[in-house]
Amino acid sequence: MSRRKVVFLGAPGTGKGTQAKKLSAKYGLPHISTGDILRNAVKSGTALGLKAKAIMERGDLVPDDVMMGIIKERLAEPDCVKGFLLDGFPRTIVQAEAFDRLLSVNCAIQLDVPDDVLVKRLVLRRTCPSCGAMYHLEFHPPKVDTLCDKCGVTLVQREDDREDVVKSRLRVYVEKTEPLVGYYREKGVLYSVDGDRDVETVFSEIVDIVEAAGDVNDKR
Ligand code: AMP
Repeated sequence: MSRRKVVFLGAPGTGKGTQAKKLSAKYGLPHISTGDILRNAVKSGTALGLKAKAIMERGDLVPDDVMMGIIKERLAEPDCVKGFLLDGFPRTIVQAEAFDRLLSVNCAIQLDVPDDVLVKRLVLRRTCPSCGAMYHLEFHPPKVDTLCDKCGVTLVQREDDREDVVKSRLRVYVEKTEPLVGYYREKGVLYSVDGDRDVETVFSEIVDIVEAAGDVNDKR
């Protein structure tokens, strides 16, 4: 079966979620954020959520076997029939290798942003707990105080967007996730994009990459 399967790489705050959402709207492919899946599990208090909560709050990674279970279940859903956009998975070499045994990826898009910019982006990031809209207190502030423009409810900061946790997430990224850049480069599917530009400029470069990469057939 021919499908469009895109993986977003990049440290926290590089804009993977923002770009994946826009790409999802353009191509009608599901945007799968493993961070969102885990946050929903924490919110609903499921067994997975109970296991993941403390790990996420200190900025560590959830075990690979747990993540593989989550991703297999999600990719088996019917909306993935034409492909998908993965945001936050794979995050370790073990995950990438296990994933490769399931299917092949068309392109791995690495968003590159300097660390000092990332810290600033993340610590001032706020989310609406009701509709999920994202704000940034400096670059994209809400119109009134810290209230969501659409829902009027008070915006919240993600537990793991506090400065000390952000720094530890960036360390975890360098140690565990950055090796994936070389991994996908060797497979000939890596595309690096300068993410320190405005959202639309970055998006148009990503669209060109995805178009040029086309669709690929699954191994099975
Ligand atoms: P994110 O929203 O992608 O920044 O993910 C938030 C947190 O969820 C991460 O800091 C990890 O604790 C956890 N997480 C998300 N995706 C993965 C993954 N593929 N492997 C391990 N942990 C993950």
